[in-house]
Amino acid sequence: MNDIIVGAGVSGLSYAWFSNNDYTVLESTDSIGGYCKTTKKNGFVWDYSGHFFHFQDKEIEEMIMRDISEEDLVEPVKNTKIKYKDLLVEYPFQKNIHQLSKEELIECLYDLFNNSQTEYSNFKEMLYCKFGAAIAEKFLIPYNTKLYACDLNRLDKDAMGRFFPYAEKEEIIKNFKSENNNSYNATFVYPKQGAFEYVKSIVANLDESKIRLNSAVVAIDIKNRNVTTKDGQTMHYDRLVSTLPFPKLLDLCGIEYDKRVYSWNQVLVFNIGFDCKGPVTEPHWIYFPEGKYVFYRVGFYDNILSQDRTSVYVEIGFSGNENIDPDKYYDRVLEDMLAAGLISKNQKVVDHESVIMNPAYVHITEKSIVDVKNKKDSLAHYGVYSIGRYGSWTYCSIEDNIKEARELANRLNR
Ligand SMILES: Cc1cc2nc3c(=O)[nH]c(=O)nc-3n(C[C@H](O)[C@H](O)[C@H](O)COP(=O)(O)OP(=O)(O)OC[C@H]3O[C@@H](n4cnc5c(N)ncnc54)[C@H](O)[C@@H]3O)c2cc1C
Repeated sequence: MNDIIVGAGVSGLSYAWFSNNDYTVLESTDSIGGYCKTTKKNGFVWDYSGHFFHFQDKEIEEMIMRDISEEDLVEPVKNTKIKYKDLLVEYPFQKNIHQLSKEELIECLYDLFNNSQTEYSNFKEMLYCKFGAAIAEKFLIPYNTKLYACDLNRLDKDAMGRFFPYAEKEEIIKNFKSENNNSYNATFVYPKQGAFEYVKSIVANLDESKIRLNSAVVAIDIKNRNVTTKDGQTMHYDRLVSTLPFPKLLDLCGIEYDKRVYSWNQVLVFNIGFDCKGPVTEPHWIYFPEGKYVFYRVGFYDNILSQDRTSVYVEIGFSGNENIDPDKYYDRVLEDMLAAGLISKNQKVVDHESVIMNPAYVHITEKSIVDVKNKKDSLAHYGVYSIGRYGSWTYCSIEDNIKEARELANRLNR
């Protein structure tokens, strides 16, 4: 069997790792890793965006960690805050309303308990229904609208899956006195040399001569099982495993679909390193629901890695079809960081870079769930399999990508 794998991100490389078949990986860019890449500049270690890990699968953890020693990792207890007006409220907001002013706490509690809405059919309605208007409108709606860059009534009610920190009324009240802010990851691990260390662990198991860089796939002939790359080369496959964004795969295969079903956001990331430590010395990352700040989240590598110079990633959400010019946003980012008290006037920037993640968060809708499933099933009849965060058009972690690749490889190995 000859498998062609499209994309050398975590999903494509993991599939190659678990597969028993001969394979060729075709990657459009000049390096492996996809979104799990690390850059190093002037002593700063930056990922494409903050990439932190919370392994749940022992087998995967052991395989990934085999060549990474404990001294090369940090494992902090998550410290995350929300900048809400002049306060720094602990995350998740809904479990920490007791940290608001008395008036706002009463408003949140009143709406939480006097909520006649019992049914919901989309993400926005779910927020109102589960938490009441005040919690929804003070944090959950403005924050997620900034992140997803769309009206939240477009998203499926379960668009964030296990990544959404649900909380029952009882838990919210209990948290007033005995704090338990655990969401899906109470601690996380992070390699001191950046997230790309994990990609190195995966690729150490592969024959790198089978990975072809600068080989963008430009057409797929599903009937004759051929792919064409941008240099005009055509290759035959028995099975094709794609990690491309799902609508792009449909385009390349010449499959018609309703373009309105697929939408997504882009994230513009600024990684910025300063000459000394700033005023924020503990939080690992801070969420910004208010529109007056251009970013929705700022993370502090220096607090995660105990460094003595501020080193941040700053994330700004855009809709999928916007043309982003990073230069237009850089000065605004520094101004807003200063206004939010994240840096002080005496701090000087030593280095910075920007990255556009497009797509970043896909808009999971009722229609996209059905369309992806149906079209994946039909593509499988032609030996085409689509996996990965974008290939499965989903919200997931790197560990989920490895699991999905392992499941497909095990199924096809049989
Ligand atoms: C802002 C943000 C923060 C995140 N934070 C975390 C985190 O903290 N922890 C975590 O576990 N996960 C995190 N993730 C998720 C994680 O980045 C993804 O799950 C993972 O990187 C996806 O890997 P993938 O291989 O499925 O896709 P990708 O990384 O997108 O890989 C796809 C590959 O296909 C290549 N390609 C594209 N077009 C072509 C073509 N025509 N021909 C050939 N190759 C092509 C691309 O260049 C790329 O290398 C985050 C994601 C985002 C957007």
